[in-house]
Amino acid sequence: MKHAEQVTFGGSGLNRSAHQRTDPTALADLARHVSARYHLLWRGKVLMQPEAVPVLPHVEPDHPLISKATTPPIFLGTAEDDTPHFACDISDWAPDVADMETVGAFHDPSQQQHPDLPEGQVFCELRRMMTALNPREAELAATARALFSWHETHQFCARCGAESEMVQGGWQRTCPECGGHHFPRTDPVVIMLITHGDSVLLGRSPGWPNGMYSLLAGFVEPGETLEAAVRREVAEEAGVPVGQVSYLASQPWPFPASLMIGCAGEALSREITIDPSEIEDAIWVSKSGMLQVFAGENPEIKPARSGSIAHFLIRNWLADTLD
Ligand SMILES: [Zn+2]
Repeated sequence: MKHAEQVTFGGSGLNRSAHQRTDPTALADLARHVSARYHLLWRGKVLMQPEAVPVLPHVEPDHPLISKATTPPIFLGTAEDDTPHFACDISDWAPDVADMETVGAFHDPSQQQHPDLPEGQVFCELRRMMTALNPREAELAATARALFSWHETHQFCARCGAESEMVQGGWQRTCPECGGHHFPRTDPVVIMLITHGDSVLLGRSPGWPNGMYSLLAGFVEPGETLEAAVRREVAEEAGVPVGQVSYLASQPWPFPASLMIGCAGEALSREITIDPSEIEDAIWVSKSGMLQVFAGENPEIKPARSGSIAHFLIRNWLADTLD
């Protein structure tokens, strides 16, 4: 798919400078460098300035909040002009209780203003703001969020249970007891544009916003190819047999650690039998029907969230630009 990397979080060619992660002296020099930029995160939310361009602000290396960080900074990489980018987590900060009610919810419209940061720079839920970011900002934010959420839930060695240490600029944890090395995980998820003639298969999970339908998706299991995962998930969730499967595009989805792998699949039958333990409903929607959904003219069906790979794939299917 020629436009594959135009998906939100599709990447910006950030130089991740992996060779500098393993050189503690070079890394310390970069961290103190006068041009270094630090992006701040708080409890999975990213510091943004929703009313400005660019949307992703940064603070300088000597900003007082850097020294209050919960963990060491993470080295994200270097820009084309050699500007080093780091991320800092200040999750220990406790804002006003009134700001906290929706933090962690499916939709979190709240914004937290830290008193030590300029007015208008606030912590936002990344999914709410993802389409406002340029590709570089999106890559920095997605990488930082994925890494910090991995560190938060992987503080102890999976081999011996001892507390492990963040090393290599945040790209590894090592265990001081057994010497085990642990690397940030990315979980592959297939998400599939299943078509039959002029129609696409959509489903909805329990708990989704009213009327929202999207492409079917599921985690790839150990020992399974992408093609097999597509066929298994569609068979399990909707009872629809799938023939030929092909790859379309991928999207890092750091909520918390997925890589969405967009595939096309040809259904061999239109008959649907849902598994209610997996999904609430599944339907076939024609191209003309889907155009109405995207235009907001269908009161029963709402499209997948803008910025998601499901939205991207359906939009390209409608425009006949999947090639
Ligand atoms: Zn260990």
